[in-house]
Formats: sequence, C-alpha cells, structure tokens
Amino acid sequence: MNVLLLGSGGREHALAWKIAQSPKLTKLFASPGNPGIAEHAEIVEIKDGDHRATIDFCLKNSIELVVVGPEAPLVDGLADNLRTMGFAVFGPDKEAAQLEGSKGFTKDLCAEAGIPTARYSRFTSAETAIPALQEFGLPVVIKADGLAAGKGVVIAETQKEAEAAIEGMFDGDFGTAGAEIVIEEFLTGEEASFFALVDGTTAIPFGSAQDHKRVGEGDTGPNTGGMGAYSPAPILYDGLRQRVMDEIITPTIETLAARGTPYSGILFAGLMLTAKGPELIEYNVRFGDPECQVLMMRLESDLLELMAATAEARLAEAQPPAMNPQSAMTVVMAAKGYPGTPEKGCAIIGIDQADATGAKIFQAGTAQKDGTLVAAGGRVLNVTATGDTLQAARDAAYKAVGEIDFADGFFRSDIGWRELERG
Ligand code: ATP
Repeated sequence: MNVLLLGSGGREHALAWKIAQSPKLTKLFASPGNPGIAEHAEIVEIKDGDHRATIDFCLKNSIELVVVGPEAPLVDGLADNLRTMGFAVFGPDKEAAQLEGSKGFTKDLCAEAGIPTARYSRFTSAETAIPALQEFGLPVVIKADGLAAGKGVVIAETQKEAEAAIEGMFDGDFGTAGAEIVIEEFLTGEEASFFALVDGTTAIPFGSAQDHKRVGEGDTGPNTGGMGAYSPAPILYDGLRQRVMDEIITPTIETLAARGTPYSGILFAGLMLTAKGPELIEYNVRFGDPECQVLMMRLESDLLELMAATAEARLAEAQPPAMNPQSAMTVVMAAKGYPGTPEKGCAIIGIDQADATGAKIFQAGTAQKDGTLVAAGGRVLNVTATGDTLQAARDAAYKAVGEIDFADGFFRSDIGWRELERG
C-alpha cells in the first residue's frame, strides 16, 4: 500500500515509525515531515493547505491511503476533497471535524445527545455575554469557539478577569476563532484522554493517556501543546472506560451518523473525571501530541491495517487494537523560550546513545544543518520509553533524557507525578 502522511511533529514521527512496521506498506511518503520522519518515509513537498496539489500528488504516486496528522487540514475540508477524488483517508470530513473546529458545535451536539458536559451558553457579543456571567458563578470558563492552538480557553477566577477575557476575544485576541464564544461552568476533577477508532458507525476503544499541559513542574505556568504523557491512564479503569464509550463516544457517533455527517478517524475525547463521572471537556479529531507517542509505543497491532479498516468502514470485522499491558511515558524536551518564542539552532547530540538505552526518541521541531541535528521549533524531542510499571517507564525515559546533550533545551522532571504519588 502506498501511503501519504501529512504533518511534521512528534505525533507524525510516531505514526511514521509504526506505519513503517506494517507488512502491508509498499511506500510511505510524508509532507512536510522532519528529520525523524525521514528515517521511515520519503519526504515530499506539498504546499500546506493546497488541496489540489495534495490530490495531484496522490494521483501521480498511486496513493491508497492518506493519513492526516493535525486538525487544521481536516477542519479545512481536505478529507472531503480527497474522498471526492476516490482516495481513502484516515481523518474526518469537514462537517464531522467541527467537533474540534467549533466548541459551540460540540456543546450543542452534547445537549442534543444527552452527553455529560459542563453547562454552557454560546454568545456572539460582549453585550450579551457579560450579563450572563452571573449564571455561572466563579471560577468560570470562557472559550473562543474556533481553533486557537490550545490558547483560546481562559479560566477566570474573578468577574473582572472574566469580563476582560470576553472583551479580548470579541476584540480579536484569537482572530476569527473568537468571533463567537462559549461560556461554561467550571468542572472540578482530574483530566484524562480517551481515544476511539471510528469508521462512521462502529467505534472501538484505542487506549487512554494523561498529558501535562503546563510548562512548569507541578503543573504550573502557561499552557503548552503538552510537556509529557503516559499511557495507560490507570485512573480510567475498565468500568469508567465503558461509561465513556456508552455515555460519550457512542451517542456522539450515532448523532453524527443520523445527521448524515458520519465521523471517520481517531476520536480523541478530553475528559474531566468529576464526582458524578466522566464529563466531556473537548473533542479532538486527530491523535494527541504527545499522547500519540505513548499509544504507538504500546500498540502491538498493525497500525496501517487499523487505519485502512477505519477509512474503509470495516472496523466491525477488524481485530481490535492489541495494546501492550506495559506503561509507556514520553518526556518532551523543548527549546528555551517555549511556549513563547523558542530559541532555534542549538545542536542536539546523543540521540543514538539515548536510543541505545531502549528508549525511542521521536523528533518534533528538529532540522538538519550542515550534518548536525538542531532545534527548529518549540517542542523538539519526545523521549519515550516503556516499563512494567509507570515508575519503570519513567526511570527508563529519564535515563534516556540524560544521554541527550541539548544545551538550550529544558524538560519537566515530574511527568507522571500524580499517578506516581497515588502509588
Ligand atoms: P487544547 O488544545 O489545549 O486541548 P483547547 O483550546 O481545545 O485546548 P479545551 O480542551 O476545551 O480547549 O480547554 C483547555 C483546558 O482548559 C482543558 O484541558 C482544561 O484544563 C481546562 N478546561 C476547559 N473546560 C473546562 C471546564 N469546563 N472546567 C474546568 N476546566 C476546563
């Protein structure tokens, strides 16, 4: 099978690594890729966002499956255009991708399908939004409706902060993503990520993980794309996972199918585990980054076969994904300055030594310069290892981190702390 993988992060490196292990693979192409992905794929240049160029490439290279890593092309309708031309795609059409593209869309779907989620209202002006704040109490959560790279959510502790957030969003702080906002009730609990493969009508669980969004130790400081993750998330025990399937995932896909806009791809549910049970915070229409890296480390099944079965709507007959019972942990090494402006160009030495410890080093913001690997983005490396326990996975991941010389880099030394404290 000839496959085209779109994306350039650690998530796509992990996907490329796993797809390359498939006996079904004939040739893997990736765009824009990165030096890590280049170890498993031929890197090709297809202009980002150019659907016509993507289709032309697929026609010329007899592509049989397109795997879309990030959300933006899906929300932009790339999968629709590829499917119209007869290509199989791993990722949802534009309308179903609204699950990530519009927070209001998802909240309305939850209301329609009776899915547990925070109480909410949608607004298109500050004049109507500010008086409504009193219905929600404090703290209160204010969200830009559209895609804002994980930055469009404000948890306001005071009325003043809430009003400033609302005014900022309508003043264009997040561009068009903030032209509409959602105000919602603040939920208390622990967050966890749950993944399911969905082929329009059938959904099968694909594992759980916990991410670490904040840049600083002990979950402090600004939000990032994610500083580390582990899988499985023991807090999502069997009974809870079943509830997530029954109360959240299944009604979502049934509702979308009934509307004539079925969901196909990986569905990533960001959950709050509240005293009442799991509630949906958000949906993402692609794998999480860095959650994907730990899921791929545990996956024993043929990823390409699972992706093809998803794209061709044959999950009902497919073997469910087999996950290694071990724990996996990934530690993100980021460039100084991240999540602000990262310092680029610092040499990275020791990847081979880190690999030799048994860990897998997925590359994100890296580039080759004069034969040396250098930092070229915010999140640079995802140092990923497995172990019989979370503690063992942690020790193995940090041992590998210790082999890497990245002078301008930093990482959190406490990935997994909540779960490790629980013991
Ligand atoms: P990301 O891309 O970082 O996942 P996002 O911009 O898509 O984020 P959400 O996931 O909806 O936005 O919210 C970001 C974070 O804000 C959540 O991970 C959670 O920590 C917090 N949050 C969101 N909604 C609530 C809520 N109702 N109650 C408490 N915390 C919330």
